[in-house]
Order: sequence, then structure tokens, then C-alpha cells
Amino acid sequence: MRLYENEAKQVFAREGIAVPRALGVCEKAEDVGRAVGERAAVMLKALVLIGGRGKAGGVRRAAGRAEAVSLATDMLGRRIRGYPVERLLVEEAVETTGGAAYIGVTMNPADFNVTVIVSPAGGVDIEQVARESPDKILRVEIAANEATLPEAEASRLAAFLASGLPGGSARAGALKAVVSKVYAAFQKYDCKVAEINPLLLTDAGPVAADAKIVLDDNGLYRQAGLFRLLGLTTARHDVSEPTRNEVRAREAGFKYVDLLAEDHVKDLSKLYVGLVPGGAGYGIFSIDEVGGIGDRFFGGRVVPVNFMDSGGGPTVAMVAEMFDLLFDYEPVDLIITSRFGGISSCDVFIRGLVGCLRERRQAGKRVVPVVGRMVGTDLPSAREFLERAKRETPAELEDMHITVGNRKIMAEVIREGIRYAFDRKGWA
Ligand code: GDP
Ligand code: MN
Repeated sequence: MRLYENEAKQVFAREGIAVPRALGVCEKAEDVGRAVGERAAVMLKALVLIGGRGKAGGVRRAAGRAEAVSLATDMLGRRIRGYPVERLLVEEAVETTGGAAYIGVTMNPADFNVTVIVSPAGGVDIEQVARESPDKILRVEIAANEATLPEAEASRLAAFLASGLPGGSARAGALKAVVSKVYAAFQKYDCKVAEINPLLLTDAGPVAADAKIVLDDNGLYRQAGLFRLLGLTTARHDVSEPTRNEVRAREAGFKYVDLLAEDHVKDLSKLYVGLVPGGAGYGIFSIDEVGGIGDRFFGGRVVPVNFMDSGGGPTVAMVAEMFDLLFDYEPVDLIITSRFGGISSCDVFIRGLVGCLRERRQAGKRVVPVVGRMVGTDLPSAREFLERAKRETPAELEDMHITVGNRKIMAEVIREGIRYAFDRKGWA
């Protein structure tokens, strides 16, 4: 369960870490004005359970009340990376003397060791720092899982931070205290993630300008005290950071999960397969089957990219959007689809697919081959529509191969589809 920034800051403050002075959590611009009062500089921060708000306009600095009200009016009701902004955290702005650090504690999923990561290059996406200047990151695994950070590790982490920040070793003591407190909070509250980015250096010492805490749902039963502190009565559903595709699918109203990371670099020797299945069960089956057939018959060179589920009874427009999303997703080389019409209609499905292909061809947008099978409800009218569509616009539908009825099992359809895509690429 992920905490909101204001909640995570309450937790860190309770552990003795300095945080900016909170002026209020506001749902209306006029409340923001009241919270700001006569202060000269404040931060307005969208309370949404997603990172990277700064770049998306979800963190704004206002010089005084009037500007705060006008910025708040703009921010409230907008969406930040797919999340509606319903509340703003209003804080006194931290005046930094230069220098922003990253401190993160998490668990290494490979060996369950608690891992502390620090960087003097804070304030930006830490993944980016890891890619571009890995020497600016120190990562320490704490194998014995102690409740408090061992002294030697704390000193090493603080010294590394201090050496890359203005103020140098004079800062080491204060930084060591913060690293130790973030670690202790991680352990005490059964966290999956406890992170400060950025920790800003000020004349009065380091201040956590941003805070992120993700609680381990399995430990929530031990955290009644934390729930009381935050005024929570029930657990919130866990929300992990959605990818662009996942945000798009959510807005269109269907379930979608990317199997590749947002920053995945495509392996050009492999075939990337997008899946538009009928139903969640078929969706999971297709992922395994595409991967399995790829391993058995195609030298492991086939990569399924997504899970998708329309839910019962999608509209033609929704089916079209499901295909559109995958056509727009650059890594995809082939789409495999299976409509097993029970609740959903084959007729709606095929109209959605054909409409999508025609529109994209006419607009000159990218398409990839679509191979699949449909069987079930409304099959006769779906078959008739498909045959007519192919007569009317053969060019637009030349790369669409839909087997009608169940004379072929899906595994066969998948294997033939991959073979077809390999042949088109001239691959063995
Ligand atoms: P995120 O983008 O969702 O991680 O949101 P942050 O809370 O980290 O804010 C984005 C950026 O705004 C930070 O990296 C800082 O550079 C800046 N920022 C946020 N709060 C303050 C503040 O109080 N003072 C100053 N000077 N900068 C801030
Ligand atoms: Mn941040």
C-alpha cells in the first residue's frame, strides 16, 4: 500500500527527519489561498500516488497567495500521468543552499536483503542517474536484516553522499543521521520502499522535500499504530506506477498490463507479440502459450508483451482501442488475437478490429500483422461481416488473418501466426 506524500512525511517526521512545514491539504483553490496566508514562497504538490509529478506539472512553486490560488486553480481537476488531482499539499518552500541527495531503502527481490541506495545526484529520476552516471550511486545490501542500520554501513553511505555534495564532510554527520532514520523507518513500518528524493541541503540541515513510502501489505496487520497516526481506518489498494499503455487502457476502460518495463530496449533479433485475447483466462493462457511456442519452435526468439482483458461485453469502439494501443506500441511486430465469444460477441469484436485497421490504413498509421481466431456468440453474422469486409477493402485487411470457428486449436493458430511473421521478416 502506497502512502501519499503528506502521510509519508508524517512518518519520517515522527522518526526525527526534518520535513517542510505543512500548511494544509486542500481540495479547493480558495482553501489554498487561506493556507498560504502571508507567506512569500510555497510549494503546491499534487497528492497522487505516482512519481515524476514534477515533470508533469504536479509540483509548483508559488510566490505568495495570489500566484498560489491561480496555480491551484490550474492544477486541481487536471490529470497527472493519468491520475486526477483532487487534493493539493501546500507547504512552505524549502530554501536550499544547493545540493540535493537521494536516499532509498528497498528490498532486493533476488535475495530479500534490505538494500540502501544513496546518491548525491538527487532530485531527478534515480533510474536515469543509474544509467548515465552509475559512479554517483552507492548501493549497500544489509544481509543480516538488522532493525537499525549498522554503524559502519551508515558511515560509509554518509561519507559517499557528503563527498558529492556542497559542504563536504561537514555534512556527513547530519546525512548519516538521515540515512539511519530512513532505514529504521523502513524496518519499523514493514516497508517495501522508503525513499527521500530530493533531500535538500539547507542552512539548518537536510530537509526531506519529497517522501515516498510503500508498505508491505503482508505487514499491515502489525501496523495499527501507523494507521492511527495517519487517521486511516482501512487499507488502500496498492497502486504501482502504471506505464503509458496502462494509463491509456485505464482511461479507455479495459484491463491492461505491460510485461516489459517502460524503458525496455527492444532486442531486434526477437519477435514481439501483442495479445488481444477474449477474457482474462485466455489472456494468461496466451502469454504462456506464445512464450512456450517461441521456446519450442522458434529458438526462444518470441516475446509476449502484454496482458489484456476487455471484461464482458466491450463496445466496438473499445475493441478498436485495444488494437490501436498495440499498433501504437513501437516494439510490437505481430498481434495475436482470440475471441472466444461467450458473454462478448464475435460480431462486435470483428467490427472493432476491421474498423481499426481501415482507419489506420487510411490515416497512414503503422499496422502490424494480426493473426487469430474467433468462435462463439454471434459467429454467423461476424463471419458474414468479415467476408464482406475483405471483399470491399482487401488492401486494408491484407495482413489480417482470422480463422473462423474452432476447426483449429488456438495453439496451432499461434504457431502459424508466429511462422507467418518470421517469414515476412525473412527469418529462419
Ligand atoms: P516528484 O517529481 O513526484 O518526485 O515530486 P518532488 O516532490 O520530488 O518535486 C519535484 C522537484 O521539485 C524536486 O526534485 C525538487 O527539485 C523540487 N522541489 C520540491 N519541493 C521543493 C521545495 O520545497 N523547495 C525547492 N527548492 N524545490 C522543491
Ligand atoms: Mn521526488
